[in-house]
Amino acid sequence: MIDLQIEAFRSNDNNKSMVLLVDDQAMIGEAIRRSLSDEANIDFHFCADPQQAINQAMRIKPTVILQDLIMPGLDGLSLVRDYRNHPATQDIPIIVLSTKEDPLIKSAAFAAGANDYLVKLPDTIELVARIRYHSKSYLTLLQRDEAYRALRVSQQQLLDTNLVLQRLMNSDGLTALSNRRHFDEYLELEWRRAMRDKTQLSLLMIDVDYFKSYNDNFGHLAGDEALRRVADAIRHSSNRSSDLPARYGGEEFALVLPGTSPGGARLVAEKLRQTIAALNIPHIAPQADACLTVSIGLSTMTPQQSSHCRELILAADKGLYTAKHNGRNQVVVGEQE
Ligand code: GH3
Ligand code: MG
Ligand code: MG
Repeated sequence: MIDLQIEAFRSNDNNKSMVLLVDDQAMIGEAIRRSLSDEANIDFHFCADPQQAINQAMRIKPTVILQDLIMPGLDGLSLVRDYRNHPATQDIPIIVLSTKEDPLIKSAAFAAGANDYLVKLPDTIELVARIRYHSKSYLTLLQRDEAYRALRVSQQQLLDTNLVLQRLMNSDGLTALSNRRHFDEYLELEWRRAMRDKTQLSLLMIDVDYFKSYNDNFGHLAGDEALRRVADAIRHSSNRSSDLPARYGGEEFALVLPGTSPGGARLVAEKLRQTIAALNIPHIAPQADACLTVSIGLSTMTPQQSSHCRELILAADKGLYTAKHNGRNQVVVGEQE
């Protein structure tokens, strides 16, 4: 159902029947006007010029059209077809008014798209009953389409909201990187993909050095700000869409690098370590004029059948532990068990 008709439905506030009679004879127009004049909730409009019928229908938005068949200049049946082909009138019920009870004309009228057939001049009771019946079914149709449309709109809104929720659910509040939940999900997914494709999967575990003393010295809010700056550096340290930077927890971050060799991962890690040192965030540890640094453990694996991505995390963690042990601010490749 198209918008024009829905609009017609909306403007028809009290379920009124809106009748449009298209007939070249003014006398018929008058007769029908009189038949309907005492009826509550039936508005009547008359159009004597068939060429103007569709325009007038678009203007007054009838709920039923009474259509004469024989008019000068335009055949009533072609006009019925025109109503059916016009988006503003395609579903409006049409009652054909014919001069005679003729099966051939009748079947031609129905074939053209008419909904009903009356012989002129119809009895008032019958005319009113049919007008009310067709109007009501038309309004019900519009009502149903309006309901479907509203349903589609709210379904779309639901989808949009779900997308926003999904994004919120996956992201870390402080840094807007992926959170731990999403990291776990993603790593597992990429682990299985690498297993299927027999490709390498690299992981960086990144931990801020002496961060406890940073907080102790500069305060928790400054600590938060420093974590945001580190997070930004991590976000910009890789550029493949399949790379996933995440906040692993506290002042520890992770970077998943699918399809990346040990050499490639080491390059990314070393560049990131230098970028963060170059931020020149003043620190008091390990010595008074220090600046904030990170230690990075990295590991690369081609997953074996029925292995678990825990192995990759453990190996990267081992590298991180060694980096801390060896003096921090460095990248160490973690050995596999
Ligand atoms: P190391 O060099 O060995 O990593 O030492 P560290 O002090 O960085 O490590 P430790 O695990 O002892 O301390 C981590 C600190 O990170 C303690 C904790 O308060 C702080 N931290 C964790 N999450 C947040 C956070 O969201 N905001 C702030 N400001 N601090 C955080
Ligand atoms: Mg730390
Ligand atoms: Mg830590």
